[in-house]
Amino acid sequence: MFDNYRAVKKMINRDDGFLCGDAKVLSKKTDHIFLAGREKLHLVLDFDRTLTRGKDETGRDVTTWHVLQRHLPDAAKAEYWRLYGKYRPLEARNMITVPDAVAWWSGVLNIYRDNKLKWPDVAKDLMVAMPPRNGVKELFDVCAAKKIPIVIISAGIKNSIELWCQNLGINPEAVLSTNLLFDSQGIFCGWEKKSLIHALNKKEMGQASLSEISGKRPNSILVSDSIHDAGMVGNGIGSLRIIVDDARSDDFSRGDDFFTGIFKKFDLIVRTGDLLPVVKIMEKF
Ligand SMILES: [Mg+2]
Repeated sequence: MFDNYRAVKKMINRDDGFLCGDAKVLSKKTDHIFLAGREKLHLVLDFDRTLTRGKDETGRDVTTWHVLQRHLPDAAKAEYWRLYGKYRPLEARNMITVPDAVAWWSGVLNIYRDNKLKWPDVAKDLMVAMPPRNGVKELFDVCAAKKIPIVIISAGIKNSIELWCQNLGINPEAVLSTNLLFDSQGIFCGWEKKSLIHALNKKEMGQASLSEISGKRPNSILVSDSIHDAGMVGNGIGSLRIIVDDARSDDFSRGDDFFTGIFKKFDLIVRTGDLLPVVKIMEKF
């Protein structure tokens, strides 16, 4: 165990695929989490653009929401992008309010309902539209072998995430995300209101369904692609925050002080564009 612990410390110190934040904080967190062991640990993962690749063949950002709109008629697509143009800049600047977030998500869901979106159409091209980032399968496999549970919390769509995971042969312990409802013909007919996860309630804290996991396993490793996801896990020494450096094309936080800003909220930046550096850490638990 101590050999593994030293290997992780060395790996992080050597910046092996990572850029490192505050060395003292990082060292304290590594000590705390690694010495408590894998029995006290769980992973919290964002989905869109963390487990999936950031951009499609046209260079456009890929999300579960975008993938569904591909199957709408043109007028409905235009309405989808009108809402995106209205609310996304607020989200990217971290200025979105709860009423904005709910209006956006509900507006998009209403478009799907009014246009009788068909789930079989979505399911058919899900993997082509959202290919996995390199290292996803390896990350789930290593955690499964070590019995470290993985929780996905996403402001995307639960149905798509679950099917995507099934297609890839990976098994998250829990998926917290908006659950869409389809009738017996596979036509969109609504959503489970209580399941709505948006930018502002996208966090582990306060989610009753996760309290058993986080109660038994208080330490967590968060992996995300967005600076706004830092609050998905607690703030203490038991939470190591890792961000994949693959900013969205409209991310306003990208500038000269980008890394300084990131390191105020995250401990490690994956600079290789894949999840293999995270896999290397998990292998040592
Ligand atoms: Mg994301």
